[in-house]
Amino acid sequence: MIIGVPKEIKNNENRVALTPGGAQELVKRGHEVYIQTHAGEGSGFPDDEYVQAGASILPTIEAVYDKAEMIMKVKEPIEPEYELIKKDQLVFTYFHFASYEPLTHAMIKSGAVCLAYETVEKADHSLPLLVPMSEVAGRMAIQEGAKYLEKPLKGRGILLGGVPGVRPAKVLILGGGVVGTNAAKMAAGMGADVTIMDVNLPRLRYLDDVMPANVNTFMSNEYNIRELVPTHDLIVGAVLIHGAKAPHLITRDMLKEMREGTVLVDVAVDQGGCIETCKPTTHEDPTYVIDGILHYCVANMPGAVPYTSTLALTNATLPYAIELANKGWKKACKENRELLLGLNVIKGDVVYEAVAEAFDLPF
Ligand code: NAD
Repeated sequence: MIIGVPKEIKNNENRVALTPGGAQELVKRGHEVYIQTHAGEGSGFPDDEYVQAGASILPTIEAVYDKAEMIMKVKEPIEPEYELIKKDQLVFTYFHFASYEPLTHAMIKSGAVCLAYETVEKADHSLPLLVPMSEVAGRMAIQEGAKYLEKPLKGRGILLGGVPGVRPAKVLILGGGVVGTNAAKMAAGMGADVTIMDVNLPRLRYLDDVMPANVNTFMSNEYNIRELVPTHDLIVGAVLIHGAKAPHLITRDMLKEMREGTVLVDVAVDQGGCIETCKPTTHEDPTYVIDGILHYCVANMPGAVPYTSTLALTNATLPYAIELANKGWKKACKENRELLLGLNVIKGDVVYEAVAEAFDLPF
């Protein structure tokens, strides 16, 4: 199969859909790989590394779309890309169709086959192509939180791990899923006093088993959250209710109970946020202060660490890309239900129920 990897054109997107290592795996299996020049540079992969891996470099985005049978991307196509996508072309990327109607209509019109990373689903209902970004965001939440707790950055001026004779910071993590678990690991490793809250009791039991001694678990409900909020220095929002907006677990009035300089990192901001006062921010201007409480609500946290994020994402996407390239999308999706669930639009028809429902389209 002929595989094309365009350079991402969305603002501040430095990730790339295929590493030189990934290109080599595809070439080894007899496929042709075409990379748009400079596509990997933002993640630290120059063109010559792709050439050494057996890929070819093309000078323009148009040349990549013209040549490829399968396009591999990271972000959903944006308007200038709509016209480049060809009839019958397979596009394997994040789409997030349900959140943007014009994209859905553009892809229906294109006649392409759209296989969305975010709906590839395992038998246990986990989403293997979303997990790596949650791992990155969860770990980053603590790195960012620790930084913003510093006084010059408007935090309380407390060191996460404390020092001998001085107590460490207290970290509260709302949601013990992928983001929350990764955040807890990092905070615990830095010596903080960590509490994870979740509504899922079996999950709390599991976390209690596997986490180190400086991590405690606590049932998530309003009463318990109100009890902990005044004494915690860093609060991480990491809840997810599948297919719904995040619930507001930290309400505006709770800010008054917190100590000045407390840091809130709402990773769930992309689902509306679980902190009522959360509004999306960017890496250029990541924080704001309300009632003396510092908020960090960057909606694309992994974008700040494109090297790690690209490797993490492509580790997860490559096996699926190889299967699609080896078998073609029809056979691959017939034989692998995980990939089948990734199909959202096939040559003008919406085939993913939630997308059809979102915009009242035939299904
Ligand atoms: P997940 O499904 O693995 O975990 C979510 C957890 O929240 C589950 O354990 C669930 O039981 C728990 N939960 C649900 N309701 C709760 C409540 N009322 N109180 C406490 N816990 C509750 O999801 P995840 O992969 O960890 O993702 C968490 C959020 O982070 C999602 O909104 C995701 O979109 C977001 N995210 C954001 C970024 C970013 O850059 N900002 C990156 C990756 C993921």
